Amino acid sequence: MSTVRSTCPYCGVGCGVLLARDSAGGLTVTGDPDHPANRGRLCSKGSALGQTVGREGRLLVPRMGGRDTDWDSALDHVADRFARTVERHGPDSVAFYASGQMLTEDYYVANKFMKGFVGTANIDTNSRLCMASTVAGHKRAFGTDTVPGTYDDLDQADLVVLVGSNLAWCHPILHQRVLAAKAARGTKIVVIDPRRTATCDGADLHLPLALGSDVALFNRLLVAIHQGDALDRGYIAHVDGFDAALLAARSGGTGPTGLAPELITEFCRLWVRTERVVTVFSQGVNQSSAGTDKVNAILNCHIATGRIGKPGMGPFSVTGQPNAMGGREVGGLANTLACHLDLENAAHRSALREFWDAPRIPDAPGLKAVDMFRAVAKGRIKALWIMHTNPAVTLPEADAVRDAIAACDFTVVSDITAATDTARLADVLLPASAWAEKDGTVTNSDRTISRQRAVLAAPGDARPDWWHIAQVARRMGFGRAFDYDTPAEIFREHAALSGIAGSFGRDFDISALSDLSDTAYAALPPTRWPVAARRGGRFFADGLSFHENGRMRMVPVTWHAPVADTGRRFPLRLNTGRVRDHWHTMTRTGTSPRLSAHMAEPFVEIHPKDATAFGIAPDTLVELTSPSGRSVLRATITDAGQPGTLFAPIHWTAETAPTGRIDALVAAMTDPVSGQPESKASVCAARPFGA
Ligand code: SF4
Repeated sequence: MSTVRSTCPYCGVGCGVLLARDSAGGLTVTGDPDHPANRGRLCSKGSALGQTVGREGRLLVPRMGGRDTDWDSALDHVADRFARTVERHGPDSVAFYASGQMLTEDYYVANKFMKGFVGTANIDTNSRLCMASTVAGHKRAFGTDTVPGTYDDLDQADLVVLVGSNLAWCHPILHQRVLAAKAARGTKIVVIDPRRTATCDGADLHLPLALGSDVALFNRLLVAIHQGDALDRGYIAHVDGFDAALLAARSGGTGPTGLAPELITEFCRLWVRTERVVTVFSQGVNQSSAGTDKVNAILNCHIATGRIGKPGMGPFSVTGQPNAMGGREVGGLANTLACHLDLENAAHRSALREFWDAPRIPDAPGLKAVDMFRAVAKGRIKALWIMHTNPAVTLPEADAVRDAIAACDFTVVSDITAATDTARLADVLLPASAWAEKDGTVTNSDRTISRQRAVLAAPGDARPDWWHIAQVARRMGFGRAFDYDTPAEIFREHAALSGIAGSFGRDFDISALSDLSDTAYAALPPTRWPVAARRGGRFFADGLSFHENGRMRMVPVTWHAPVADTGRRFPLRLNTGRVRDHWHTMTRTGTSPRLSAHMAEPFVEIHPKDATAFGIAPDTLVELTSPSGRSVLRATITDAGQPGTLFAPIHWTAETAPTGRIDALVAAMTDPVSGQPESKASVCAARPFGA
């Protein structure tokens, strides 16, 4: 049985898989021993991939107005509606909402279509809900969105600090690498999380800090670094903002962490005394109205000690989705340009316009996800294209988002199924090829580009996403620029553009891959960028940044509480997140009996004190209400969380659990810098269902 190398489509670890067709037409999936991310291992989700490639529920042909149609009719109609909307109302009346599930080639074409040819920056992505605060924090500190470290640093660290990350469930293979380092070299593990999660099982220390108080804790650490004489003064010679950041940390920068002072002291002592420390952070940091400040509070500590860009040390953002990084590389956010070029930089815009031979490049950021759907609700966005994501479930205040999409003049959805809450609202549905049916690349959390490869024929008339966009672009008169026949052509164009970015001194440079033959693209092994390193070596080991003056920046940050206030009406705080065996809105994992058995229905974790206070018994139904919505979930009474806080998973939809859509309750409060929603500290009330 011949095998084909590919990449798991779930989380940002980006594990390599070996795919083999079996005699019954199914797929056997095993870990790729040669992939540097996982070295043959797979988690429960990855090892169940073979159970999820069935054709049941697939969208097989285009649909318009609820009826099956052919591709030409659907594409002509989409192009006509988009062109007429732009003509009548201007380019900013249309929007594109993309996804970290898309392949880099798809993402590149979507971004080029919107920013280069439609002429609007109104393209954003569900990565806004996932990584936007990290992007903003990196740019403030480094001048560009560079992840400094690699997975190898986790193997070589003496201390791994996990902040706002349930690594054991959300990035299981990385967690296994950290545990292996602990077994091999005695690496200490510290978990900083309001909840006692599965990740705490392997930890030496758990700091159950108050929701949203990370800035207060890391400011205390910065002060301890200064007091403990752990500063790297040679490194700080290349840093702007050290005095201001330290001053902010000392004076008013700290707030209530809810932690015992001796626990803070123990953590600081460990961090200060350990040279090789990696601070891993994820959604508990990013999904906050202070997300960008939290990221910079962490980066400040690594910059001040020079513990960055060297083996076994550095701040390390782990991405939620398989291709959040690829989306960042192609400029898939409303405030970024392709290849880490800057939207605000006229020379960058001009170079991009010339490279694409584009009529226009917008000179102002477009609408970020939450604002985009508010504009849809107000009728300012009149034509909307949603690709591989389910905002009617996943955006905060999801009921309002659902209603906005339903009321939009014209909505196109590209997806593999018609059975999502968002797809049901579409005027036009375009059938997409799924994982294992399409070719392209993804980039994982440590900048490694890996191939996804097709081994199955796409069912019916399903086509790759880049093809959907290119076909509409051609019909709108943008022909030559979208004259692609293969993803390899798109990859080469993206790589060539990265050379121009490199000539501007940007970090993302894969220009050495710009003349890959089709055969070489087909065989491309996992490749970490930069591929054409102009500066050589590791990022930031030399203390130089991508700011114009070449200096790193520490950012003064001060603690503030989550935006929404609890009170008599809504006395509890709601934290949301993933469970081990499901992925997003379960369009794939929900088809695996084994994965579904792990947690079969939506639930909410309630502290025993709150359960008593609100009269909630174990395993009964509980009604949650917030200013924006209502949910009914099964109660799990546990002291894993803190009194006054709840935890509920994000995965269930109107389709899978009519009352379980948790994002209906989440407030659309965002970080003022990154635009990322505060998905972990909304306010709500709880009572027994029917009381
Ligand atoms: Fe897939 Fe992530 Fe599991 Fe690896 S850790 S197998 S990428 S879900």
